Amino acid sequence: MGETVVDLLCIGAGGAAYPAAFRMARAGHKVLMVDPKGVMSGNCLYEGCVPSKAVREMASMTDAMRRFSTQLGLAAPPVPDYAAIVQHKDQVQARRYAQHAQELAAQPGIALRKGVVRILDPHTVQIDDDRGSEKIHCHHLLIASGSDVFVPPIPGAEHCLTSHDLYKPNPALRALPKRLIVVGGGYIGLETASFFAALGSQVTLLQKGEQILNGMDPGMVALLQPLLPAGMRILTDVDVQRIEAQGALRRVVWQRAGQEESGEAEAVLLAVGRAPVIPEGCEVMGIEFDRHGIRVGPSLQTRYPHIYAAGDVNGRVPLFHAAVRQSLVAAHNILGGNQPLDYADFHNVPTTIFTLPAAAYIGMTPAKAEGRELLVGRYDFAEDSRAQILERLEGEIRLFFEPSSLRLLGGWIVGIDAGALIGQIGTALSLGATAYDLARFADQHPMSAEGIGKAARSLF
Ligand code: ADP
Repeated sequence: MGETVVDLLCIGAGGAAYPAAFRMARAGHKVLMVDPKGVMSGNCLYEGCVPSKAVREMASMTDAMRRFSTQLGLAAPPVPDYAAIVQHKDQVQARRYAQHAQELAAQPGIALRKGVVRILDPHTVQIDDDRGSEKIHCHHLLIASGSDVFVPPIPGAEHCLTSHDLYKPNPALRALPKRLIVVGGGYIGLETASFFAALGSQVTLLQKGEQILNGMDPGMVALLQPLLPAGMRILTDVDVQRIEAQGALRRVVWQRAGQEESGEAEAVLLAVGRAPVIPEGCEVMGIEFDRHGIRVGPSLQTRYPHIYAAGDVNGRVPLFHAAVRQSLVAAHNILGGNQPLDYADFHNVPTTIFTLPAAAYIGMTPAKAEGRELLVGRYDFAEDSRAQILERLEGEIRLFFEPSSLRLLGGWIVGIDAGALIGQIGTALSLGATAYDLARFADQHPMSAEGIGKAARSLF
């Protein structure tokens, strides 16, 4: 039997893989996706964006019902049932897996196999699965192997949970911990800390540096931090020394300002980052990578024009929607004969920190402006109808414009509807809108989006 030949082989079946797979298959090409999970949609659905947001919305509703318990005529504030919340999360995941399976079955030309890919040479890979190994010849290769939880070499790290243990289908954590210690103040740690605090856990978050959400605009972070749920204690400049297990309890020992301190909790979440998953074979083939990921430019090509790396594995913008766009860029460039005809924009990608409340940003913000002058339009949620209805008066919409042209360069939102509003600002930005364009668009009342126009009008 001869070697199987495919036009495109995708290493992984997540957001960076399947959009390209479908685009190529629709153009009549033969595609094979390989993923150890044996299902489509990668870590986003398995343990990332979707399940964490299922928990978030439950926490957000609990928080709202608690705040409005009198108006709703509730005899007592609601007590969340975490096991039931997990069941809801699991159902959402199951539903989406079924939907993806249907999409796959309906598309001729794509096959999905459960297995792990190893690159043997520029046109040959080996798939290892339960039954053995098979070699495949591929005209093009899309490395879309994503990222995985990074576990640092802290003694006792094995006593901690990771986002995997919280959010995967049928997860390990099924009861609300009375106390939770979160190690890591990046977006995953901070989001989870805020959900559990809103659900009623006493949360302590330990951050290594002086700022949570390191790398994000300090101006935005300073607005968000005081709005995070009460019951969430944030300690910065903390150096975690070790984690000890004492029966069902965990003790975290850390250094702060030269002093040793410690805290006890029913659960510890380790959330100190994610690392790219570099498939075996990249190194020998001289595909360049470092700890951030495989090196690619906006065409997503590696040093081999027919080998692409999209999504978390290239570390450029480790977000699902960025992976989807990059996947399509790779497909377009393959269809263009590996001559780049499409490029990914790594800068103007909406990013939301889905804390309670959330913060979101896109494009240029003051910290990235490096001394360049920006014109700032601002709208405070304190004056917003919807914010008043929800009794969520904190936060703002801020837009940044180029002074000479009034062109929109970026913006942020802290507070209500941040995740939805940033998409609207992003659309305006990608269409090259100016403050004039935003100011003359009559957005709906009484929705928070009217604040975008009002922020623009604050300039005139
Ligand atoms: P992205 O959003 O960039 O697609 P994900 O992490 O969501 O990233 O998905 C990547 C998928 O690739 C995961 O399901 C992961 O298990 C899979 N994967 C990782 N390494 C390999 C490999 N060597 N062979 C096949 N699949 C892999």
